[in-house]
Amino acid sequence: MEWNAFFNEPVERLPRDDLNALIDERVRFTIRYASENSPFYRSWFRKHGIDPVSIREHEDLLELPVISGRTIRENQPPVTDDFRFRSVSWNEIFTIHETSGTSGIPKSFFLTWDDWMRYAEKYARSFVSQGFSAGDRIVVCSSYGMNVGANTMTLAGREIGATIIPTGNCNFPQRIITSYRPTGIVGSVFKLLHLARRMREEGLRPEDSPLKRLVVGGESFADESRTYLEELWQREVFNTYGSTEGTMCGECIIRKGLHVPEDLVHLDVYDPSLQEFVRDGECGRIVLTTLIPEGGRSGTLLINYDTEDTTVVVTRDPCPCGRTHLKILNPQRETETVWILGTPVNKVDIERGVFQRENMEYLTGEYEAFVYRDDEGGEILRVSMEYAEPGKGDKELVSENFRRSFFVNKPALARSLTENFSLIFNFTDPGELELHALKGRPRRLIDRRA
Ligand SMILES: [Zn+2]
Repeated sequence: MEWNAFFNEPVERLPRDDLNALIDERVRFTIRYASENSPFYRSWFRKHGIDPVSIREHEDLLELPVISGRTIRENQPPVTDDFRFRSVSWNEIFTIHETSGTSGIPKSFFLTWDDWMRYAEKYARSFVSQGFSAGDRIVVCSSYGMNVGANTMTLAGREIGATIIPTGNCNFPQRIITSYRPTGIVGSVFKLLHLARRMREEGLRPEDSPLKRLVVGGESFADESRTYLEELWQREVFNTYGSTEGTMCGECIIRKGLHVPEDLVHLDVYDPSLQEFVRDGECGRIVLTTLIPEGGRSGTLLINYDTEDTTVVVTRDPCPCGRTHLKILNPQRETETVWILGTPVNKVDIERGVFQRENMEYLTGEYEAFVYRDDEGGEILRVSMEYAEPGKGDKELVSENFRRSFFVNKPALARSLTENFSLIFNFTDPGELELHALKGRPRRLIDRRA
């Protein structure tokens, strides 16, 4: 059955020319708003000799400098006296957020109620594009806290008339499934793998559950791990991408990329090594600009903000689902990439090797990888994987499947195998990986070179 419902049909189906006109109108308003309300951008325009009135359309943004998370940290206490990105008075701020900073102090974000409604609309559009509607019951396993994700989805649930079950994690008792009969769960790939395994151990078959579909988000993943998750649950798994900075993109039923809500956030793709923006189809970092509708109020707006997440614009052509907004590939986090002998290796490359289908006869899917340098300057990638049952596995087969998947896109590393690169494997019993002893979102690819 074709699903053709929309949360905001007129906007989601706007023809490209009209959509661009709407974007340009909002670019002009946002720039004016920034010059009038944001202490940071007021001095940024002055410092770079930018006349805000000269920025008329989204292409003009390509001529402006790019800012980063560091820029935000350098413009908030303790570095400066006040939060220089805050762009409304304290009285207008509804909530305050912090991003989980792996590097130093967290970045602060301020949201007005206006901001909340726009954030919620982005997730509401995404939910509807995945087939959710009034009457659905959605378990939100994403954590509630200083980030915005789980709270935004909760508000989005209200917007589409769905019931939210805000467990905040996937360790809930089976009663949540059997008593409330949810039709959807939002979580990470690994949380949903755990949940399926636990249900089986307790005698419930995930494939017999009332769930209609699963939504994953909050981290990048390999297609292989998603495929395995779909096999375990016998349900479609949809991808979302969101951040406190305000990108909320969702995969529609077509599942060939995530729609960017282009009227609410403008996205360009930038190559930091070339220091220039790249064309559609080329990989680069997501640089975002908040778009505020005429008359709107925003607590923290960003212009040309480098998210440090990488993606590729798949297409700007209309999608078979009816939406006209552009689609991007599942973003990867640059902080999850390490360079080994000139070759980038992302967490997703490791995950793909682990989740080779044949391997999953033996593994839980949990993994962690470390990069070392030996005394002679050789580089070592050590991958640890976990057996589903103690001591039961085929090391040779799993290692060979991993190597085949890993080297196919890394020919230079394959060539280095006989010289200064080694790939070694380690297998543990369930629960024995180092990451199980650590709190918070696990880091799965760790650089231990001095
Ligand atoms: Zn679509």
